[in-house]
Amino acid sequence: MKIMKFGGTSVGKPDRMHQVAQLITKDDSEPVIVVLSALSGTTNSLVAIGEAMAAGSRDQAKELIDKLEAHYQSFIKELVKTDKAYAKARSIVSEHFEFLNIILKISFSEALSKDILAQGELLSTKLFSVYLEEKGIDHMLLPALEFMTIDAQDEPQLSTIKVKLSRILQQNSNKKLFITQGYICRNSRGEVDNLKRGGSDYTASLVAAAVNASVCEIWTDIDGMHNNDPRIVKKTVPVEQLSFEEAAELAYFGAKILHPTCIWPAQQQKVPVKLLNTMQPEALGTTITQEAGSVGVKAVAAKDGIIVINIKSSRMLLAYGFLRKIFEVFEKYRTSIDMITTSEVAVSVTIDHGGNLTAIVKELEPFGTITTEDNHTIISVVGNEIAQTKHILSKLFEALTPIPVRMVSYGGSKHNVSMLVPSSYKTQTLQLLNKGLFGLE
Ligand code: ASP
Ligand code: MG
Repeated sequence: MKIMKFGGTSVGKPDRMHQVAQLITKDDSEPVIVVLSALSGTTNSLVAIGEAMAAGSRDQAKELIDKLEAHYQSFIKELVKTDKAYAKARSIVSEHFEFLNIILKISFSEALSKDILAQGELLSTKLFSVYLEEKGIDHMLLPALEFMTIDAQDEPQLSTIKVKLSRILQQNSNKKLFITQGYICRNSRGEVDNLKRGGSDYTASLVAAAVNASVCEIWTDIDGMHNNDPRIVKKTVPVEQLSFEEAAELAYFGAKILHPTCIWPAQQQKVPVKLLNTMQPEALGTTITQEAGSVGVKAVAAKDGIIVINIKSSRMLLAYGFLRKIFEVFEKYRTSIDMITTSEVAVSVTIDHGGNLTAIVKELEPFGTITTEDNHTIISVVGNEIAQTKHILSKLFEALTPIPVRMVSYGGSKHNVSMLVPSSYKTQTLQLLNKGLFGLE
């Protein structure tokens, strides 16, 4: 089986949906499971609707619901041609917006907000199915809520997913094309839930692992993962091949193309992941497999919004157990640390969200003098065995002579060197690295 996942922009316009139908029917050598996101912008609107309801602003929520409904009404006019298909699409849109309007009248809860968020993927898959039917393309809708489950810690249950999904597929072994919702799932209480924003990639990877797919294709609007951020540097090139480890580092450290959590299921089952471009289906894109393909620098990525916390204490001198006590504070506030540097009397760590910063600083105070600095960016240089690549550090530092590098992390992973710079230097840093490491402007 093959998995093909299409993101919001790939289904965001009727034309694009038509194109997706072509892409998924091109090759019929093996059965395909298609995973769809919500139409672009929809999940954001649903979040806003939920927030308005939570704040008790029903009028505002109603206004947002009506606006979204109007969007879908005009979407379906271009999506299908026949009266029969149009009537079907209309009734789907009405059904889901009726549901939102009913929710508006019920008192708001966390569980309800998840129901609201699920409407996007339910709508996109059902409407796509109507279009396929109109075109005479045989397929089956696979309801994600019947097989995609998460446990009490919100972690997907791959073995359960596997059992449930296999059963459904076996019962429908005469079908060759399946359409399912990304992002949505059921939680341990049986309620509708989701895999967090951008979670459709995760769905695709989980489904790929569950059915041991031959490939998991992630279709977006860029031709794969690039060596640098195309919004910031003039010239970038797609990276043809990455290992799962390299891809995980890049995704985590800011390359927006793939959701960081989505790598492990495919990696575990050794299902190759391909990043492909709906606008340029023939482009090679990026293939992610067990093997890295080559040694050396592949790409740089940047992660913004980093906060540095410095802990300075003479008590640390020759002491043991000091770091444990510090780490415990972060554990208590469920805040993960990205980078760390130590000297004999000081430790600096970075975190990527300041939600619990005040509380963390307060609890760290007994250990020494605490200072914090916000507005930093982690620049990660990623590549297979990069730490063993000759002259990598001299090349890096030479390229970055004008940059006040605040921290360096080298040797933690064989595939990554990370540097922390003030965010105001991010653009310049990425440009200098593009020239210094890749010879590109
Ligand atoms: N629709 C969801 C979101 O926008 C999931 C996804 O697109 O991956 O976050
Ligand atoms: Mg996405």
